[in-house]
Amino acid sequence: MQPIERQAEPFRAPIRDDLAGLEPYGAPQLEVRHPLNVNENPFAPSPELAARLADAVREAAAGLNRYPDREFMTLRSALGEYLSRESGISAPPAESVWAANGSNEIMQHLFAAFGGPGRSALSFTPCYSMYPEYARNSFTDFVTVPRTAAPEFALSAQQVEQACREHRPTLVLLTSPNNPTGTASEMELVTAACEAQRAHNGLVVVDEAYAEFRRDGVPSALTLLPEYKNLIVTRTMSKAFAMAGTRLGYAVAAPEIIDALRIVRLPYHLSAITQAAALTALESADELLAQVSFLRSERDRLVAHLRERGYTVADSDANFVFFGTFPDRHAVWQGLLERSVLVREVGPDGWLRVSVGTAQDNAAFTAALEEVDPR
Ligand SMILES: *Cc1c(COP(=O)(O)O)cnc(C)c1O
Repeated sequence: MQPIERQAEPFRAPIRDDLAGLEPYGAPQLEVRHPLNVNENPFAPSPELAARLADAVREAAAGLNRYPDREFMTLRSALGEYLSRESGISAPPAESVWAANGSNEIMQHLFAAFGGPGRSALSFTPCYSMYPEYARNSFTDFVTVPRTAAPEFALSAQQVEQACREHRPTLVLLTSPNNPTGTASEMELVTAACEAQRAHNGLVVVDEAYAEFRRDGVPSALTLLPEYKNLIVTRTMSKAFAMAGTRLGYAVAAPEIIDALRIVRLPYHLSAITQAAALTALESADELLAQVSFLRSERDRLVAHLRERGYTVADSDANFVFFGTFPDRHAVWQGLLERSVLVREVGPDGWLRVSVGTAQDNAAFTAALEEVDPR
């Protein structure tokens, strides 16, 4: 038999016109000694905790012939209790909490439920690079308003209010602490957004991926939830919680909002393995968060060090530092990479973002930077 002849024409997948030629999003995943580019917690679980996680997964494995618990109320109430301890709020009931595979999937649920053709989402640049992608995928218009000039990258309540009134977005995305800049928003920005959005039945999402790293005295938007039914606060286990590999993000909001997310989620989106790992991690929250105060003090040290060396540095409430400016930031990024230090080229031109790592990571970063950019 003759082999079937290959077609001369290359195959082209019939991708949507608006997606044709696009590259998938993601920071480079390179093998380096000091990966400081995606804001992970550098401290791996202890062998004891890893063993407890494995036990929980083994137990879940015995039931993997069945679909997982679709509503995962146990996990949802455990997340609420964790937030109560972390932020001093009274524990939100399970009906007010939602969870998904990373806060990225939470955002996807929010856009699927509340975005769509003829609707818009508003954010303030520089902002997290995934926001425009959720909007694109859900055919939601994405409107941006610039923050003030560096190094403040600030916003006023008046700017926020005016932008909400002008664009009437269904979703306003406020990131606090902001990524890539690192600074937390004042609560009056959140209240201004909630008030202005209320006028046209719009929502406000405060993305608090880095909340556990905020400086002393900086409140969480969780404290405003009882007052504003149109407020959603999102959190993640990927950063302070040192569980990026688990993929667990969550949100707190009025049950009416959570119910809308339940409409658009895929059935059984949260695997039994993920639920088991997340519950075990929550039981060990104190241990997982034990390095947060160390990372905060290293962060403060790094900010002071970079300022002493003459850089412009944004105030940081997160586990990363945004600094500049470089006439050729790519050359600096490359020079650091050659010394096995991987940072992130992101945000306005001339700026770089470095995650706070272990003491060794941070020392390697500062030494490499002095070599690459002697001043
Ligand atoms: C890292 C990060 C997240 C976390 O995403 P996960 O999907 O939970 O890992 C969310 N928002 C911002 C702004 C981030 O920087």
